Amino acid sequence: MSKKQQTLSSFFGVSPPTKKRQLEPESEKRFFLEKWLKDVPWLEANDERTEMWCKICRSNPHLADKTGAFYKGSKNFNHPLFDKHEKSKEHTNVVQAIANKHASQEEMSSRPLARWRDKLNEEQRQALFNIFLLAFHKAKHARPMSSYSEDIQLLKRLGVNVGGAYHSREGGTRIMQSIAHAISGDLRAKLQSAEFWGLLFDGSEDITKTEQEIVYIVSVSSNGEFTSDFIGLIELGADRTTQAITDRLVRLFQDTGLDDWTTKLVAVCTDGAAVNVGMYNGIVPKLR
Ligand SMILES: [Zn+2]
Repeated sequence: MSKKQQTLSSFFGVSPPTKKRQLEPESEKRFFLEKWLKDVPWLEANDERTEMWCKICRSNPHLADKTGAFYKGSKNFNHPLFDKHEKSKEHTNVVQAIANKHASQEEMSSRPLARWRDKLNEEQRQALFNIFLLAFHKAKHARPMSSYSEDIQLLKRLGVNVGGAYHSREGGTRIMQSIAHAISGDLRAKLQSAEFWGLLFDGSEDITKTEQEIVYIVSVSSNGEFTSDFIGLIELGADRTTQAITDRLVRLFQDTGLDDWTTKLVAVCTDGAAVNVGMYNGIVPKLR
């Protein structure tokens, strides 16, 4: 009983209306309404309907605000603050985190490689770039791949970021193959779109003195520029007959995706060796 009530009751000589005051809120007291479960998608309540909570926040305890009423369990059925919780930073953070997780899982399963590439951080990207550069250098200058893993160790000691993978000779070879695949894909697309092209080949020797034919294709781009592209080497084995060399040239065209070579090949340039241009038995008459 407050001091004011005491004063008033002593003035009127009646007891203060304590009973009535106690009854009033009792009659206003509200209980859990079943329709809330339909209206509020994240709401959950116990079977006795004496407590309710946010099932999204509760199922993500590492993200949720554990001190919030809808995490601990609310008993405030008079004025349930559904809106306030739904708009709270704590709740929206949890909802957003779940959405992000779903989106990334979906994309992971649909584009695993691209996703993996995108997920690389800057440091990993730089490491890949460095080892690709080393493998490309080996290929371009015809260095033996056995020196690849030695060079990786040297670069590491010099403080170059080479990451932790593809350090073996086999790793280097795999990188080289993927570079070659990408380059030959570009070349294939370019030569397939050319209307005509010419063939350029000549004998050469590699560092082990193996004799080979080095083969280029000269093509004209749509803007009139001439380019020559190396398409491959033909190692000359025991069979050096014009037929054998011609067959291998044709196979090289086909391997490069130039199945239409018979209609697009318009010129051949080579030295005057009889094996090449001999009127009846040279490679040029055979290609015709
Ligand atoms: Zn919540």
